Amino acid sequence: MRVERWGRAEIRELAAYHVENAVGLIKLDAMENPYDWPKALVDNWLECLRSIHINRYPDPDSRSLKQRLREAMTIPDDQEILLGNGSDELIQIIALALAGDKATVMAPEPTFVMYRLIASITRMPYIGIPLRADGFALDMVAFRESIELHQPAIIFLAYPNNPTGNLWSRTDIEEIISLAPGLVVVDEAYAPFASDSFLEALGHHKNLLVMRTVSKMGLAGLRLGLLVGPKDWIEQINKVRLPYNINVLTQASAEFALHHKAVLDQQAAQILRDRKRLFERLSAITDISVFPSEANFILFRTPHGRGAEIFEKIKAQGVLIKNLSAHNMLTDCLRVTIGKPEENERFIQVLKQAL
Ligand SMILES: *Cc1c(COP(=O)(O)O)cnc(C)c1O
Repeated sequence: MRVERWGRAEIRELAAYHVENAVGLIKLDAMENPYDWPKALVDNWLECLRSIHINRYPDPDSRSLKQRLREAMTIPDDQEILLGNGSDELIQIIALALAGDKATVMAPEPTFVMYRLIASITRMPYIGIPLRADGFALDMVAFRESIELHQPAIIFLAYPNNPTGNLWSRTDIEEIISLAPGLVVVDEAYAPFASDSFLEALGHHKNLLVMRTVSKMGLAGLRLGLLVGPKDWIEQINKVRLPYNINVLTQASAEFALHHKAVLDQQAAQILRDRKRLFERLSAITDISVFPSEANFILFRTPHGRGAEIFEKIKAQGVLIKNLSAHNMLTDCLRVTIGKPEENERFIQVLKQAL
């Protein structure tokens, strides 16, 4: 069989990234912003798209959009920016730029699954360092040992972490940056909902990159992520990027949206209020334990042995969340994205029924 002969063994062993079918369900599984734009804004946006030359290639360097991102996210002047088709693509670009015989990828465990998936695809050994069972803190004893032993080329740290939702100790992360022989990528996908960031620390470390995305702030459909860091690193990593990875519609639409960032900021503020409310509602349910979150989702643990069953019952009632209970550190854990107030209410209602 040709597939067996030529398809790479490590790819045949992988399961393709699975996305649940959400048709007809209240969608609280993927950390999307649940809000549409006001009609007047949609009209303005469509008007702006009229002037696009769809017959021409996009600006390969997205100069205008990068300038807008600099202002909107207050990116330090002395740092360079590289754009990706979502931060997923940036993770892949970074891996391809550093992959080599012994280049290892390291990350805490559990964390964002793409780090491991992309390491397999780029044939990089992957070392997951289990988080501490008490509150998902970084296990610094293990990190010090493993950094010394494996000399990782790349360490990914999601800040806050997905799927646990917590911010790790800043001091611990700074220690990891100083011990790391290679790159440290701090993935700030949830920056709009978090109380801290490493953007301003960029100037102090030569091996630190900060990754952001517009997905969780309300533009998941555009597919746009950014990598920020020192010129020498960005210059090298940029050589791996395909020339026109950010299409004309994304460039124009993201620039337009960031000109109206106040709308997205208001939506984020609403989501933060609803996160607090949902956290309180979940905490009041005696059978489950809830983990604090600095992101637009909440992780919680259902009674022993019942995670998968409760997930299915909730889904049968028309609400899709995320089942994480198969992970050995997340037994019986489920993750819910903050939706509109009425969606969150419905979720609480069906969760209580399921319990
Ligand atoms: C959702 C998520 C991403 C993916 O972002 P895209 O820009 O949509 O590809 C990256 N990192 C973390 C930690 C995430 O949770």
